[in-house]
Amino acid sequence: MKRSCLLKICLFALALSLTAPAFGADDLDDGFDAAQQANAEYFDLYLAPGIEQQSLNRALNLPASDRILSGRGSSDELTGNIDALFLRVCSILDMRLYNYKGSIKVCRDFNQLRSIYERLFDKDLSGQKSFYVFSNNSIYISADSFKREILGHEIAHAIISHYFVVLPPVKVQEVLACYVEYQLRKGD
Ligand SMILES: [Zn+2]
Repeated sequence: MKRSCLLKICLFALALSLTAPAFGADDLDDGFDAAQQANAEYFDLYLAPGIEQQSLNRALNLPASDRILSGRGSSDELTGNIDALFLRVCSILDMRLYNYKGSIKVCRDFNQLRSIYERLFDKDLSGQKSFYVFSNNSIYISADSFKREILGHEIAHAIISHYFVVLPPVKVQEVLACYVEYQLRKGD
């Protein structure tokens, strides 16, 4: 990676860390209890009404090379491709997790995402397209931001949060997640 790229990632991470959600939320009622659910090996998926797995799978657009390397997924199956992306992020971070299970909650749009964030943290989302909540081990993302690099960034936060016994500083976590995002974006 060029030094200028690394510098940009670090600056981006510092900016994000100022608005990163705290690890903990007093009220975890996110309204997803009755949402449509699908199960992958590493994640339970909750989809807001009207959101279809097939359209999310097309938006994820996971490269065939990632599916082959992970030994998971197929071109038309969202859950398998989510598992393949999880394994890809583990590989990029060189952090292997066994017995991991989290949740991915897909909002219908940015307004719902922002509303949930405000309900959980009582502050504004500040333009973030997704976020991870350690307290309920859930990734929140809006359907129109459902790209592999954005989802991969949040999966990286989930992996980092479960890999270390003592968590690295928040800014270090953000740099690592941004590195994953950069690597996934390079595949375009
Ligand atoms: Zn982040």
